[in-house]
Amino acid sequence: MKALVKAKPEIGLWAETRPVPEIGPDDVLIRIRKTGICGTDIHIWNWDDWAARTVPVGLITGHEFAGEIVELGRNVTDQAIGQRCSGEGHLIGRHSRQSRAGKFHLDPATRGIGVNENGAFATYLKLPAFNVVPLPDSIDDEIGAILDPLGNAVHTALSFDLVGEDVLITGAGPIGIMAAAVARHVGARHVVITDVNPARLELAGQVADVVPVNVATEDLKAVQSRLKMTQGFDVGMEMSGNQAALDQMVEQLVMGGRIAMLGIPPGKSPVDWSRIVFKAITIKGVYGREIFETWYKMIAMLENGLDIRRVITHRFKVADFAEGFEVMRSGLSGKVVLDWE
Ligand code: NAD
Ligand code: ZN
Repeated sequence: MKALVKAKPEIGLWAETRPVPEIGPDDVLIRIRKTGICGTDIHIWNWDDWAARTVPVGLITGHEFAGEIVELGRNVTDQAIGQRCSGEGHLIGRHSRQSRAGKFHLDPATRGIGVNENGAFATYLKLPAFNVVPLPDSIDDEIGAILDPLGNAVHTALSFDLVGEDVLITGAGPIGIMAAAVARHVGARHVVITDVNPARLELAGQVADVVPVNVATEDLKAVQSRLKMTQGFDVGMEMSGNQAALDQMVEQLVMGGRIAMLGIPPGKSPVDWSRIVFKAITIKGVYGREIFETWYKMIAMLENGLDIRRVITHRFKVADFAEGFEVMRSGLSGKVVLDWE
């Protein structure tokens, strides 16, 4: 089969021919139809320090996918051949206290497909049947292929009650933009999204009914006055991984404000803790998706008017994957989807 492999410890990915994976008794084999390119895949492509520490050379990459089940392990009775599906890319252990309590997304033994284990940038993917998420007919393959990052957005956005609240999202990458659409969908009052990249802010305005703010040139306090906000934002979602953005968020929040933090700051970033203490701010770290509550809620929202399709700005045949990665690396795209058929 075809696969995109981290074949050498240097910049790039390589198309290789690999054997079709052999599945175990509790697995399914999925024929991949569409995949999304993630920021994580860009780290792996660039072979930065994190990737070099984490990803074994020779790994099949990719974790955002939609496809169809073509083979069932002998113990698998609750899935069917021909079923269209996406799936949770975090492979969890079953022995930790968290896992046994049903908090699967908090299992410390989690391993990621396309990061620690062979992934979805391939004609076929082996996945535990437990991780399969069937797709209803109303969700097509390209939306199915971006449910993983939409799930990050949904998990973050549903961390705190947003109904009637003023929400600040820092970072208009694909996940920030989708989080803005979710905040709108669930009934936030004002949704402001910041970035320093005009192309990303323009895209945010096209995908969701939000107020895009370029913090390189505009003052957030002035935006608050324009929106007739008196005290500040109630809820923040940090989705840039940028230290300045987090500082700005703390500054712009109300007393007792809440922050859901998905963005990954580089290394140990300095934080002005006294401001967080005196403002009585709650910060929640967000990792992955809640398994499987986030999946349930996001599919329900997609079936009831949540529309994030315009966040997909580029589509390529898998033969042109290098072009897809270049577009993602340019910072001028939203989601980039590869077609494997
Ligand atoms: P992305 O890199 O595409 O987007 C980040 C955006 O932040 C960019 O558009 C960038 O221009 C913007 N930015 C930079 N400096 C800024 C500033 N000072 N103020 C406002 N915006 C600024 O990332 P993405 O794929 O949308 O993911 C969002 C974040 O979430 C990333 O940090 C990613 O690593 C992280 N992530 C975390 C998890 C998790 O499980 N915790 C999962 C997926 C992604
Ligand atoms: Zn991803």
